[in-house]
Amino acid sequence: VRLQAGLLLLLLLGMPAATAFRSFPPGSSVHDGITKDAAAPLGFPGKAAAALAQATRRPDYDEMKISLNGNGSLRMGVTSQYLPFHHCDRLPGISDADAFKDTALYVAQQREVALADLRNGQAQDAGWAIGRALHALQDCFAHSDIVRGGFDAEQYYERAVTTGGDPLPGLHVTGFDPTARDTASPPGDPYPYSRFNLDANTDSPMATTLLPDGNTCFEHARQDAIAASRMYLQSILDNLTGPQRDALMGLHETTPPPKLPVPAPAVAVPVLVGLAALARRRRSA
Ligand SMILES: [Zn+2]
Repeated sequence: VRLQAGLLLLLLLGMPAATAFRSFPPGSSVHDGITKDAAAPLGFPGKAAAALAQATRRPDYDEMKISLNGNGSLRMGVTSQYLPFHHCDRLPGISDADAFKDTALYVAQQREVALADLRNGQAQDAGWAIGRALHALQDCFAHSDIVRGGFDAEQYYERAVTTGGDPLPGLHVTGFDPTARDTASPPGDPYPYSRFNLDANTDSPMATTLLPDGNTCFEHARQDAIAASRMYLQSILDNLTGPQRDALMGLHETTPPPKLPVPAPAVAVPVLVGLAALARRRRSA
């Protein structure tokens, strides 16, 4: 596993774009910084914040893989564990609103998983669930155009992705197609990941675009993701007893378990059926 991660890191260092607020290098990636900045003011000790950051970057390590195209260019592919709502991705045939809603539902479900784990004395498992939620939540800012909506829209979106709520009309979520030759530029997609993602400060033309306050779209997405992540962590802390809170604050980094828990069928089945239908359509096209 370590060898694979090292290889992946090498490939990513040479890559123009990575998926999801950058998760590389481990410990000092964009995702890591967001999670640590969200956790520290809530009283999480450094070790616990590092464990949350490890859990938050993990979905990219588990679900993304880099391969070579025939012409020698790199292709950003996915593993069998990939699901679009783990990364606030919009797949072909899915609306922007549904891509957002699927992700917000998953974020809410992982809070229930984490709270149940904490009630059962399984703080480390709770940490993984919180990390899965924070990853998806943070990606919602890097994979949408909410930062262009202005202060009120950004504040609304932070609450909607954290505690549930409909997306604002007109929201765009970046398009990604795991079955396409260029996954980041789905053919015919008006809002492709390649041009509009805000995963790193120079990842796309939009990432470097300045907003009226003089900050870039990337920096807005990062700050919004910190605020929403803090709100999410607070919503967990608000529901804990003293001993549960102490257990969560005692989190520490560990070797990840070999498999992700299967997401709730209510979310997974429609998406998997959609993916299967898409694959059939593509084969027959
Ligand atoms: Zn991601």
